[in-house]
Amino acid sequence: MNVYEKADKRIADFLAWIAFSFNSFRARLNRRSDTLAVFDELNTLYQQINTYSREMFLAILQDSYDGEAKQRRRRFTEDFLIVILDDPNDFTTVTYSKELERKSERLSEQLTAAIHRSALSEDRTNENGVKIPLEIEIKRIFDKEYGSLALLFDSYMIETVDTGRVYAFEDDGVRRVRWVTILDGKECDYCRSLNGHVFPINRIPTKPHPRCRCFTIRFD
Ligand SMILES: [Zn+2]
Repeated sequence: MNVYEKADKRIADFLAWIAFSFNSFRARLNRRSDTLAVFDELNTLYQQINTYSREMFLAILQDSYDGEAKQRRRRFTEDFLIVILDDPNDFTTVTYSKELERKSERLSEQLTAAIHRSALSEDRTNENGVKIPLEIEIKRIFDKEYGSLALLFDSYMIETVDTGRVYAFEDDGVRRVRWVTILDGKECDYCRSLNGHVFPINRIPTKPHPRCRCFTIRFD
């Protein structure tokens, strides 16, 4: 199993926990739920997501370093995550924690709005004009949020794995790396154009888009 697959597995396990938490949250949510309680509970849940996902990213960072380094001298601490998660980067202009905070607020707003509309008998309707039951509406909101969290973790996962590998290259005195693009017809033109090119270790191009599956290997 390569490091990206190993990281994918960690994310899948973490997402399973989130799905479980969302489901139990939904089960507790009822039509009379007061708005403040929803905001509070989701805020707590997202703080847990922040804490636990940082532990996960730290493990991913260490895995990817250990998978590449000849001598596994480096032990990563939370401090290393700050550069990856808390410095606005090319993928996102806000920090990871801020992004989770915003997601929590947006989710609370969507849920309380749906509950409110339903209380006023103004439920959303489908294309045939039939009212969408509140439970279904709420499930949709959570499903969408789950997908968006998965994408967020995936972007940071790739950045984390790449960072771990670059540390390993540097510790091993690697000077240049070769860019490898997975040529399976799903790659974008830009990634294809980078395939096989050699870059100095300190001038590796930034990945051009989320879910980019390109990686680098040691050249000399
Ligand atoms: Zn790519």
